[in-house]
Amino acid sequence: MEDIKMTATKAQYAKLKPELDAAFSTVMASMSMEEGPQQQEFARSIATFQQVQHAIPCARGTDALELALLALQLPAGAEVILPAFCYEALPEVIMKLNLKPVFADVDSRTFTLSPAAAERMITAATAAMVPVHLFGQCAPMQELTELAQKYNLWLLEDVAQALGAVYVDKDEKEWRAGAIGHMGYTSFFPTKPSADFGEGGAVFTGDAELAERMQQIARDGMGGKYTFSARLQNLQAAMLDVKIRYLDEYNEAREEIARFYDNAFAETKLVQAPQRATYSSHTYHQYTIKVAPALRDGLQQHLSDNFIPSVVYYPQPLHLLEKYTLAGYLPGELPVAELLSQSALSLPLHSELKEDQLAYICQHVIDYVKQNR
Ligand SMILES: *Cc1c(COP(=O)(O)O)cnc(C)c1O
Repeated sequence: MEDIKMTATKAQYAKLKPELDAAFSTVMASMSMEEGPQQQEFARSIATFQQVQHAIPCARGTDALELALLALQLPAGAEVILPAFCYEALPEVIMKLNLKPVFADVDSRTFTLSPAAAERMITAATAAMVPVHLFGQCAPMQELTELAQKYNLWLLEDVAQALGAVYVDKDEKEWRAGAIGHMGYTSFFPTKPSADFGEGGAVFTGDAELAERMQQIARDGMGGKYTFSARLQNLQAAMLDVKIRYLDEYNEAREEIARFYDNAFAETKLVQAPQRATYSSHTYHQYTIKVAPALRDGLQQHLSDNFIPSVVYYPQPLHLLEKYTLAGYLPGELPVAELLSQSALSLPLHSELKEDQLAYICQHVIDYVKQNR
């Protein structure tokens, strides 16, 4: 059996090598590393992929969030609601802009922002909500859109982990994740499903005025007041333009692997496979199981002893990080996020996993939880 890896960027490169190398050579021949026509081409490709009017590429996913928030021109101290169970860098960006991150609890089935929990956190100062389409699956956008309308809030979707996921609204209309709210943004960091060979990000919107503002900020910074230098390099754009054509194919391959896991774990209640929401496809950026909190760390150690990598996303809910407890959050306040941080474990999932590897992983997970229950 081959060694089991958490991700497979090398094998993916091998498959797309002719096309990627050609794109690379074109840019090298033009010697336009920073700026060039590939940037506009990629902006068009990704906008078409997302079925949105405007896409603004930038250097990183966190820059994309920054760009989106800057474009909203919110007053200092405005509150931005985001899920307590997500990536640490998001509240950092919010604070950097003198805005206030406000954490809300998540749904225990989809791990995404709970509309009811979000509504409880709304105050007169709330300006925006940032639902995160976690691990490859959409947050409940119908309810969140209604909430945003009711309280007149901006809705910014984080699609860094779910690019390519399809959301189905109540009229059965299909949307790309990240194209539903006022704006959506993504990351092309190598560990993301849209794996690049460097870093990248983009913001999507159907709003011409916001798009114009973001293009201007990405181009010129903020008129001396604030420097924003986060353009996507031309070379990266050229590589990503190849990659994006295969994203749906890779996402489908991931779903196959997820199905293998789902079937294997159906045999025991001691392992909870990730649940599929009825309103969204799942791109399985992570295949995240839940086990009893008392078993989780031991299971991870057992897997590691058997050469199976796994990762705890996320070991701490954001509201219990020290800098936020100082702002008054207490343990027990957002119980679902807290429980998830003790019970979730992400298993290897990428398009190159073989059946013998998958069977080996499942056997070790199931044996461990049965022997230690
Ligand atoms: C990775 C990630 C980002 C940011 O991406 P970078 O390109 O690394 O800045 C944003 N949101 C989520 C949920 C992520 O997982």
